[in-house]
Amino acid sequence: MTTSHVILGDGIAGSSAAETIRETDPEADVTVVTEEGEALYNRILIKEFAKGKLPEAPVSIHEPGWYDERDIDLELNTHVTGVDTDDKTVHTYDSGTYEYDKLLVATGGTPLQLPVENADAEGIHHFWTFQDARKIREHAAEAEKGVVIGAGLLGIDLAAICGAQGVDAKYLMRGNRWWRYALSLDGAEIIHRALEEMGVEPVFESGLDHFEADETGHVSGVVDTNGVTHEAEFVGIAVGLDYNTEFLEDTAVEVDDGVLVDQYMGTNVEDVYAAGDITRYYDVILEDRTQNGSWGSAKEQGVVAGKNMATDEATSEFRYVPSYSITHFDFPFLSFGHPTIGKEEAERKYSDDEWRRLTFKNGKLIGGVLIGDLSQQSTFKKIIRQERPVADQKEALLEKEVDLDALAPSPIE
Ligand SMILES: Cc1cc2nc3c(=O)[nH]c(=O)nc-3n(C[C@H](O)[C@H](O)[C@H](O)COP(=O)(O)OP(=O)(O)OC[C@H]3O[C@@H](n4cnc5c(N)ncnc54)[C@H](O)[C@@H]3O)c2cc1C
Repeated sequence: MTTSHVILGDGIAGSSAAETIRETDPEADVTVVTEEGEALYNRILIKEFAKGKLPEAPVSIHEPGWYDERDIDLELNTHVTGVDTDDKTVHTYDSGTYEYDKLLVATGGTPLQLPVENADAEGIHHFWTFQDARKIREHAAEAEKGVVIGAGLLGIDLAAICGAQGVDAKYLMRGNRWWRYALSLDGAEIIHRALEEMGVEPVFESGLDHFEADETGHVSGVVDTNGVTHEAEFVGIAVGLDYNTEFLEDTAVEVDDGVLVDQYMGTNVEDVYAAGDITRYYDVILEDRTQNGSWGSAKEQGVVAGKNMATDEATSEFRYVPSYSITHFDFPFLSFGHPTIGKEEAERKYSDDEWRRLTFKNGKLIGGVLIGDLSQQSTFKKIIRQERPVADQKEALLEKEVDLDALAPSPIE
């Protein structure tokens, strides 16, 4: 009997799952439903496009022909409004109903909108889709003054876009540094200097109170939490994600700030899986539930879900160390594993633009941040994957070159 797989979302998680299902079961029916008007593109590259440095073509990953060749049905411009897990149907806004045997939820997140005065003024940008990038590119090219809000991995993209587009920008941060959950002041200062070099001024102990708009409804300024007004015709804001789970509200699928899944990407409801940014998954290395918003992780979760959906067995397990790099500066930056949730830490500054921080939990290395020198990244990822009990060997881990043989052996290999 043919199995019908319906995949919600054509991001990297949904698309990888569709490809994996097709490779594993040539007979299956595979349908991918997305509310976007274009097939999978590289979300990582849209920032380079918005900087004005890259044309549209290299951002695209799949032409619609890619789906046809694999006999995958791609439904664009189709907004999912509800799921009935008893009837096994998916309801859409105006494109009818889809029946499934197996369902994958891979609908990711939408940037959080802050409910402040003039939040809907023209020129205020959130950043998630290629469409957002097109508008950002156009507005940033015209703007002279800008403000960026959100001291994290997406906020810094908006700051770099301002830098590349010659927008004289202020970057408002809540604490005394950028990405304070993963970096100490020593590490963050390297980033602050690099921002200033590109024409972006960090403003610390600040944040958004409200926006000011002109008579045409265009943003004209940002009033910060200290009452200071920063002139701006361009605003970029990245303060977190709302997970796209509304359509699961009437189901028994467990949702708690994301869809809860096990290490096989299965939810608590039979034949319903989830993958990508939207999941709060059981991490077999952390031995805990966690979340991750990165391309590689979403792709691997899609593959794991696809295999388990197509074989109808929980055989493939998600055991993965994610990473996220920033390429805006003339030094490299990489975060790996889960650098924001460790209970213990160790760090060292090696030079003006070289720094390392490692975090530990239950005696194991679980993540870190490398600035300036990424040469040890595969070593650190290996230590995490192998679950070596190295928390008492911090000095050895902070050596410029880590000697794997000198560290505690892996208990699992
Ligand atoms: C600007 C930017 C830069 C980034 N840079 C990096 C980077 O350098 N490195 C890195 O590792 N990661 C980066 N990321 C994060 C990375 O892109 C994401 O983690 C990854 O794309 C998540 O993939 P996903 O498939 O889970 O979700 P998404 O890519 O968000 O895909 C979900 C899809 O589902 C659709 N959808 C949502 N709701 C519905 C609905 N109700 N009905 C139908 N369709 C729906 C959405 O429109 C979307 O197309 C970046 C993200 C952004 C936005």
